[in-house]
Amino acid sequence: MDKIRMTTPIVEMDGDEMTRILWKMIKEELILPYVDLKTEYYDLGLVHRDETNDQVTVDAAMATKKYGVAVKCATITPNAQRMEEYHLHEMWKSPNGTIRALLDGTVFRTPIVIPTIKPAVRFWEKPITIARHAYGDVYKNTEIRTKEAGVCELVFTGESGEVIRKTVQKLSEPGVFQGMHNKESSIRSYARAVFDFALSTHQDVWFGAKDTISKIYDGAFKEIMQQVFDEEYKDRFEAEGLIYFYTLIDDAIARVMRSKGGFIWACKNYDGDVMSDMVSTAFGSLAMMTSVLVSPDGVYEFEASHGTVTKHYYRYLKGEKTSTNPVATIFAWTGGLKKRGELDQIPELTAFGEKLENATLAVLERGILTGDLVSLAEEELEGKGIKPVKVDSEGFIKAIKQEMES
Ligand code: NAP
Ligand code: MG
Repeated sequence: MDKIRMTTPIVEMDGDEMTRILWKMIKEELILPYVDLKTEYYDLGLVHRDETNDQVTVDAAMATKKYGVAVKCATITPNAQRMEEYHLHEMWKSPNGTIRALLDGTVFRTPIVIPTIKPAVRFWEKPITIARHAYGDVYKNTEIRTKEAGVCELVFTGESGEVIRKTVQKLSEPGVFQGMHNKESSIRSYARAVFDFALSTHQDVWFGAKDTISKIYDGAFKEIMQQVFDEEYKDRFEAEGLIYFYTLIDDAIARVMRSKGGFIWACKNYDGDVMSDMVSTAFGSLAMMTSVLVSPDGVYEFEASHGTVTKHYYRYLKGEKTSTNPVATIFAWTGGLKKRGELDQIPELTAFGEKLENATLAVLERGILTGDLVSLAEEELEGKGIKPVKVDSEGFIKAIKQEMES
């Protein structure tokens, strides 16, 4: 069989720990035998980030801008414990944070649903896609912790020379302070990314923030989203029978819980971080969710939203076989291959991505599962007369390969 040819490379960002092991297995077993894979490889493993003073992360983000499509493995965000474990020169920033800041954009996260895994929320019938604004707010903040009484001020000095000064708080004791920002252009391009995604997937958009409390900051998000909608999208939404509405974040959460799913939940950066874990876990597992960063200039970065699964990796290092779920990492690869196929007009490449996804879902449907899914699918499978089989990661990937070959 001839391998599928590619014309433009995918930017490949390797990562850490258990997901780095899965990464290699997925490439070797499920992609390289079928695709003449072209990638520009960047090793974002912590060791190499440290060796390059984190320059490799910036280079990988710049390459993503150049080629338009990247696939990223999960990476360690160092903390004090990692400083010791890896003898780091510095406590490097989160690679995801660095990449998102350079690419701007919106992260879309959608649960991968299969009929044998019922969501924890019994009303949910369709996946809920979280659209997370990926720039600014608390992720680019400035913080102060004080040891004495005093006053904290927020000062803006305009290019015109105009100065705006407000008192944050005057304290008669030590305290903590935080300053954060966002950009009108970033909120505007977020709005467009969300509305475009809604039109292309034919789904409503719900946006929640807290403008009753944060009247200016969240108020700006509410106002800009509405303005972009009214000026650029309203007619198309109406023609498609779709709706956009804003509601308070707490009301949004209550409505989400009572909903049937099947819409896009637009979230500010922090809400999107937190709520995507809630949504993915309620749909089954952290490893059953796709995640893609879409930048305003049409650049795509596909990843898994879970971490490097450290606990499993330490067991792997002791020689144990682990049953780590590779589905989200497989779907990061298929997302990248499908997008590359679409952009370069290589329909075989797009079709290959779809086949690999279908083969993965078919294996799960047959009851061949990693440890995280067994208890979730047991009842439904047994109802169908199927005995679930727990396999290790390697066994799971081999089963997908068999499914593809057949
Ligand atoms: P994690 O790697 O997502 O794992 C947390 C727990 O969730 C695991 O111990 C495991 O539970 C379960 N889990 C997650 N992914 C799984 C999978 N594919 N298959 C089976 N079970 C899975 O989060 P963490 O332990 O908090 O973080 C570990 C490292 O990842 C940290 O260094 C963090 O900085 C990094 N991180 C990276 C990203 C990213 O690059 N996108 C995101 C988050 C965290 P059980 O142990 O119960 O089996
Ligand atoms: Mg998170």
